[in-house]
Amino acid sequence: MGEFELIATYFGGAPLARARLGIGDDCALLGDLAPGHCLAVSTDLLVAGRHFFDDVAPADLGWKSLAVNLSDLAAMGAEPMAFTLALALPSVDEGWLAGFSSGLFALAARHGCELVGGDTTRGPLTIGITIIGQVPVGQALRRDLGQAGDDLWVSAPLGAAAYAVQQRLSGQRLPAGHPACCRLDRPEPRVALGVALRGLAHAAIDLSDGLLGDLGHLCRRSSVGARVDWPEVPVHPALEGLAPHTRRRLALAGGDDYELLFSAPPAARERVARLRLPGGGSPARIGALVAEPGIRVLDADGNPIDTDDLAAFDHFR
Ligand code: ADP
Ligand code: MG
Repeated sequence: MGEFELIATYFGGAPLARARLGIGDDCALLGDLAPGHCLAVSTDLLVAGRHFFDDVAPADLGWKSLAVNLSDLAAMGAEPMAFTLALALPSVDEGWLAGFSSGLFALAARHGCELVGGDTTRGPLTIGITIIGQVPVGQALRRDLGQAGDDLWVSAPLGAAAYAVQQRLSGQRLPAGHPACCRLDRPEPRVALGVALRGLAHAAIDLSDGLLGDLGHLCRRSSVGARVDWPEVPVHPALEGLAPHTRRRLALAGGDDYELLFSAPPAARERVARLRLPGGGSPARIGALVAEPGIRVLDADGNPIDTDDLAAFDHFR
């Protein structure tokens, strides 16, 4: 199977509802941006052995490759429109391609996001997606608009994906279908929540590298500090029964949650608390932004918890 047949078989052919021209020409053409909107564009690269285990199910990989990009749109309050797919493949494995594209298109269909182009080459398995969405001008949930005094919220319980990674790395693989594996393999990008937070939240970021690390990014960009009340941080039930320090490390510093972390003024508190996620549940208020720089994590008695050992993931460190 050649390059063009591969593209047509596994990635082409879906009817377009939004784009004017999709796969097959030198460029895709997108039109009909809603009046008063700007484009939101983001790219994520997934490399085998670095961002996913080599033996991950191809359908899960297809899902997750798009999910991490949709999560970036969610974190801006943007509505998905289209994406492109750059693929490096070591060989043409039709079973793998069928699985990968099924997972990819399953999530794309849920969010009305169209594949409009890409590039395909031979090489070590690498997946690069660029996603395009739209957001009303002035309403994007940027990292740099947090204010001291804002409440700090997280969309859903944390730590399960990192727990699945930890078990896997220690050789104690969790059974397939375990809730922690589902959280790692098929994250649910919080697109509807991001859109609902327009006009309510001041700042937002999606949690890919761990709560404390990503909160640090938001704080630096907004020139504020933060207080996190550890007893208020929702911890995923899959972590029940683990040693307290392990639960805390996974929830505060584990990565791959793809939940939203956002700040909103106290005046918006009741409206935020009433928001509902698709699977049930509501955002949890876990602390506040403060004027003094730095992040302090407090225990139930208001005493600071030492978090020096909880550094966020950095690819070049
Ligand atoms: P060009 O040489 O003009 O860059 P290509 O030959 O690489 O075009 O690709 C042919 C068409 O197939 C283009 O429209 C491109 O966007 C699309 N395409 C290539 N690879 C993929 C892919 N993995 N997924 C979706 N579309 C793809
Ligand atoms: Mg090309």
